[in-house]
Amino acid sequence: MNISQKLIFVFAGFVFLFSQVAQGTNTPDKPFTVIIDPGHGGKDPGAVFKQIREKDIVLGIGLKLGNYMRENLPDVKIIYTRDRDVFVPLHERAEIANKNKADLFISLHANYCGTPSITGTETFVLGLHRTEENLDVAKKENAVILMEDDYSTTYQGFDPNSSESYIMFEMVQDEHLYQSIDLAAEIQSQFKNRAGRKDRGVKQAGFLVLRRTSMPSVLVEAGFLSNNYEANYMNSDDGQAYLASAIFRAVRDYKKAIDSKSDYKLLASNTTTAAIPAAPKQEMITSESQVDGVYFRIQLAATSKKIEPVAANFKGLKDVERKQMNPVYKYFYGKTSSFEEIQAIKNEIVPLYPDAFIVAFEQDETIPLKKALRKLKP
Ligand SMILES: [Zn+2]
Repeated sequence: MNISQKLIFVFAGFVFLFSQVAQGTNTPDKPFTVIIDPGHGGKDPGAVFKQIREKDIVLGIGLKLGNYMRENLPDVKIIYTRDRDVFVPLHERAEIANKNKADLFISLHANYCGTPSITGTETFVLGLHRTEENLDVAKKENAVILMEDDYSTTYQGFDPNSSESYIMFEMVQDEHLYQSIDLAAEIQSQFKNRAGRKDRGVKQAGFLVLRRTSMPSVLVEAGFLSNNYEANYMNSDDGQAYLASAIFRAVRDYKKAIDSKSDYKLLASNTTTAAIPAAPKQEMITSESQVDGVYFRIQLAATSKKIEPVAANFKGLKDVERKQMNPVYKYFYGKTSSFEEIQAIKNEIVPLYPDAFIVAFEQDETIPLKKALRKLKP
């Protein structure tokens, strides 16, 4: 077994253990609800290349995605913002999601740029763009509001074509950001591995449709219409099936992770410490400790008082490291260059430290997680 297989094996063991405890008490009152949002439609064709229109492609992918989910995730509720060729204003798309208290919002789009050789998929979460390129994508997608009646009132004077308008996204406090990034990373990974697409990474930009949703939300750019090959791929039945299947798998895995986390939470609140598993094996923690550049750790706590990082002080966790980071001491656990692995480790210690979170480092200095993820996906 390689390291990741071992991780999965150990992790699966924990999940099994917990599911025995949690069984019967974890009855969700509402089905897990996914909003599928094929962009554009009706009078708005989106990007157009020769006879190929973005609105048709993303509807095709969206309908296939819904079918895969119905077949394979029967307990998931699927809601479309549009399931035919009609124009739906951006704010209504978000309202549909909020009204239905959805758990996920997936907006589907296709890209277009002035350089025909550029190809690949990218998945966006809400935030301030870090590059002009990302800003351009948001501008293009947001420009659809110009087709809406009275857009100036609806969007409070937001001008989709003015760069200044986008400064407001710097102030966005998105409580679902990390979950959105999780899903976006999963989608990109599936695009690459399942559909063989070029992975342009998880990105951030100011999309109005994401701004108004109140759940983890992503905007998928499934490929470039400005590239002849990719346009034809996205326009083909096979291409759409691969892309939809990749997104389906990402949603399935994301939901699986959420479900196991809620089992943990239940366990943490309902059972005695005796049920809490022993600390994860040493091997998992040190397996990738020899890494250059970017790596991830889990921050367990921060204190103003100096505490010895011994197992007795950290609920049995060994190899906790203390770092003095003025004005406090911080305590870190695990170390790996793989974001997936650090997520798995975090999932294991959630029962012990429900508020633990992932921190990214570069050359032993902390850097924003988003920046680290970007570096991993150039
Ligand atoms: Zn679009």
